[in-house]
Amino acid sequence: MAGLVPDPATDILGIIDVQPTFMPGGELAVEGGDQVVPAINRLLGGPFAHAFATQDWHPAGHSSFASSHPGKKPFEVVQMPYGQQVLWPDHGIQGSPNAELHKDLAQARIELIVRKGFRREIDSYSAFFENDRRTTTGLHGWLQARGLRRLFLAGLATDYCVAYSAEDAARLGYQVFVIEDACRGIGLPAEGGTTIDLAKRNLAAAGVQFVTSAAFG
Ligand SMILES: [Zn+2]
Repeated sequence: MAGLVPDPATDILGIIDVQPTFMPGGELAVEGGDQVVPAINRLLGGPFAHAFATQDWHPAGHSSFASSHPGKKPFEVVQMPYGQQVLWPDHGIQGSPNAELHKDLAQARIELIVRKGFRREIDSYSAFFENDRRTTTGLHGWLQARGLRRLFLAGLATDYCVAYSAEDAARLGYQVFVIEDACRGIGLPAEGGTTIDLAKRNLAAAGVQFVTSAAFG
């Protein structure tokens, strides 16, 4: 797909969890996670007039942390009241330097920052809903009020917070694009490959389109 021209009246770039905690040297490092910053800055400096960003924003002792579950290790899966939950290393701690948006991110066009995962008992991958897929972050209302209907997503991680955001957005009726070269994934083992492969299959089935930054050239 080439020649995509974002319409300032309807289109917005969604920047998911571009925080040092998810980058090399961070608590839950995604391989190449820092490489999304220049890619996103090019999008913010050119085609997109509007953007929102999310921040993973957990209290210490959050229930998604393996350290909160005696005997459990990071990346084990447990059953929570709202469904299965991967246990992560402690990350995205409210107010910590690594939970800030990356210092090199060009923030001028970021009009809204959504913080998520601040309720101790429930995780929140998606920009729209916590992991019960019902408790809203308020983002949908903000986008509706602004008349924004086409969502282009970038950030971390492809297979978790980007994927959940894309899936929820499609379910809410948005036209959704994932800008692949402006995302990086975690890639845990999954049926038929990794969680990145699985997310891409699920998103394609939900009508989410995958593009690269070159499509905006
Ligand atoms: Zn988190």
